[in-house]
Amino acid sequence: MPQTVVVKIGTSSLTSAETGYLALSTIAALVEVLSQLRQQGHDVILVSSGAVGIGCSRLGITERPRTISMKQAVAAVGQGRLMRVYDDLFTSLQQPIAQVLLTRSDLVQRSRYVNAYRTFRQLLRLGVVPIVNENDTLAVDELKFGDNDTLSALVASLVGANWLFLLTDVDRLYSADPRYNPDAKPILLVDKMEQLAELNVEAGDRGSNWGTGGMVTKIAAARIATTAGIRTVITEGRSPQNILKILAGEQLGTQFEPDLQPFNARQRWIAHSLVPAGKLYLDHGAVNAICRAGKSLLAAGITEVEGEFQSQDAVQLCDGTGQEIARGLVNYSSLDLQKIRGHHSDDIPKILGYAGAETVVHRDNLVLSNAGAGTP
Ligand code: GLU
Repeated sequence: MPQTVVVKIGTSSLTSAETGYLALSTIAALVEVLSQLRQQGHDVILVSSGAVGIGCSRLGITERPRTISMKQAVAAVGQGRLMRVYDDLFTSLQQPIAQVLLTRSDLVQRSRYVNAYRTFRQLLRLGVVPIVNENDTLAVDELKFGDNDTLSALVASLVGANWLFLLTDVDRLYSADPRYNPDAKPILLVDKMEQLAELNVEAGDRGSNWGTGGMVTKIAAARIATTAGIRTVITEGRSPQNILKILAGEQLGTQFEPDLQPFNARQRWIAHSLVPAGKLYLDHGAVNAICRAGKSLLAAGITEVEGEFQSQDAVQLCDGTGQEIARGLVNYSSLDLQKIRGHHSDDIPKILGYAGAETVVHRDNLVLSNAGAGTP
């Protein structure tokens, strides 16, 4: 059956660590594999980093830029070079490609999110391989994906992919860093995210000098993707042929089983794409009503309101300890909520002077954070 496959490759796989030059044989092998997948009838999206690294190498800059403006400038140089290389290689295999540069704000607003979905679907219908990166040149710090692992999971969730491949510089996930710890155990299959905690996985906090990811961001990406029902694989970037083998059923890399009851499209948007603008702290009764009884959030159950937000913004719902239990779209501004928190719904018109919504966050606009594989 044709599948939608999203593949993410990072700077450390695309360039040589010593010289910073492009790892041409890896890139060529990846292009061959992705073209082959297309010929087999699969829809393919590539999420590729490399803009900053390649931009630096083009300009003879030997250290990762520290200032935002420098990073944005070199990304503009590198992104063009990167696409040129991909286009040359894909064109020699008669495979058309497209460049899609996204910023986080493109996925926050519902209409833009739907628009991005339609564009991807149209490109795939045309038989094109979209090559996605964060629009590093224009993205502002507060509203960034930050790393392409997260970006790739959000893209996979947006298009409703079947597979997400996170290519990296190790062959799979280990219980500790295998470069330093000889006792590190390979992890082949993750059924549930909680398993990683039980195995005591030390993911380390950062990747190579040039990439921004590491195992932490890969696991976070797997969490997003598996709750969206996407089978996620961490495997080695140097051997892109592994993608074909894994799709054919071989047990390579680390595979994360998709959730059996994944979020639907709207829940995915609420849980993963929105950026919460505030926090609502709830009393015990409200936490229970939401987590166990599938109820909406009412003003009476809110003990504290944090942040400034407008009606229809996304907020985190937290228990008394500050632990996030859900996310949702709020029906009142933070200003109004300060006035009505703790009050019965019948009193709201009297307090605010208008008849607002009965619920503060309606069940249909609320997603539990520990549903499926874990916290969004
Ligand atoms: N978007 C960045 C780039 O193209 C990379 C982000 C990452 O390494 O995850 O250079």
